Amino acid sequence: MVAITGTLVQSYGICKRQTWLMAHQIIPDQEHPYIEIGRLLDQETYSRDKKKINFENVVLDIIRSDEGDIVVGEVKKSSKAQESARLQLAFYLYKLKQSGVDAKGLLLFPEERKRIPVELTPDLENELESIFKGINAVVLRDTPPPPEKIGYCKNCGYREFCWS
Ligand code: SF4
Repeated sequence: MVAITGTLVQSYGICKRQTWLMAHQIIPDQEHPYIEIGRLLDQETYSRDKKKINFENVVLDIIRSDEGDIVVGEVKKSSKAQESARLQLAFYLYKLKQSGVDAKGLLLFPEERKRIPVELTPDLENELESIFKGINAVVLRDTPPPPEKIGYCKNCGYREFCWS
């Protein structure tokens, strides 16, 4: 079984080749501007009410305890890949639930002043479980799926790797 991470869940919704490359420890270009912006956003945004906790192999941003609820925030630069970001956050809620912690999620797009609540419903849990199977099938391949040009490629850390 592959060790599923939030990053793999997110990438699976974007590009299965990226999922394979990440799972096989092929390091993306860290100098890529998109990654750099993501890092800066992570450091600077919501710093007043953010608290990071390490949970298994992920770092979660607990941004607020609202009326006793635990709310896990995930900050993204852009809502273009909103659906895969939603699944990534749902995965964290799923893992927390497995550890006996019921939490709600909040996707944050500070540059767009947008917030999307995410709740772990039974349907969403089923969807995640089928994604886990899909990730396993992709990662266990001997070679990565071939590259396919998609809009995300221009912002992807593997762009040079796939297209040069
Ligand atoms: S550059 Fe494009 S094809 Fe290659 S991993 Fe990234 S998104 Fe996938």
